[in-house]
Amino acid sequence: MKKITIAIDGFSSTGKSTLAKQLAKELEYVYVDTGAMYRAVAFFAMQHNLIGANFFDKDALVSALPKIQLEFKFNADLGFAEMYLNGENVEKQIRTIEVSNFVSKVATVSEVRSKLVEQQQEMGKNKGIVMDGRDIGTVVFPDAELKIFMTASAETRAQRRFDELQAKGDNVTYEEVLKNVVERDNLDTSREDSPLVIADDAIEIDNSYLNKEEQFDAVLELVNDVVKTA
Ligand code: C5P
Repeated sequence: MKKITIAIDGFSSTGKSTLAKQLAKELEYVYVDTGAMYRAVAFFAMQHNLIGANFFDKDALVSALPKIQLEFKFNADLGFAEMYLNGENVEKQIRTIEVSNFVSKVATVSEVRSKLVEQQQEMGKNKGIVMDGRDIGTVVFPDAELKIFMTASAETRAQRRFDELQAKGDNVTYEEVLKNVVERDNLDTSREDSPLVIADDAIEIDNSYLNKEEQFDAVLELVNDVVKTA
């Protein structure tokens, strides 16, 4: 069967990664979570005191970029790849609310974006890839055969993220999570470089009222249609 490139973009906490992982497993494709890459850079900036509540030393981060090495390593027990920053598994550290609070600022920096986009394009050059993020269908793979754009109301997304964080024992409030979701939406859609926009040829899915199975079945049908004609 012909392998294609599947680009999944959309707002935060719309279930992009859940869908992307399901598709990759079903199709035996590689799954790449580009948000994890931006999160790892934000975590690096936090570790090195380059970003905080009231400051962000962009120039120092840009100078430090050659020292940031990102790698995905497949974890067979979990069934997906985990993020390594300079050789250290940072999968847990990058999912905290603190990193979520800083990541979208880090993602506005063009030098950060071009470094990560180059790495993403390299990972996808042989197709057979499902990549999720904010600029996959518009910037990373504008020629992707299938582009999905996922949306859901901010309240639905905050509730999902809140439930996830609580299950992990994170001490956050729903209001804090909702504030973070809304702030990231604003930063992601308003930044100058590669803002979050729906690609002209993307198919929009609002999953506020769709369960995971219904959504998966619908997208798998789209994949099969595209593969037939690719
Ligand atoms: O997907 P996730 O919510 O983990 O992404 C974290 C943040 O990284 C996003 O809110 C966005 O600011 C940034 N991001 C981006 N471009 C991507 C993926 C993520 O700007 N391709």
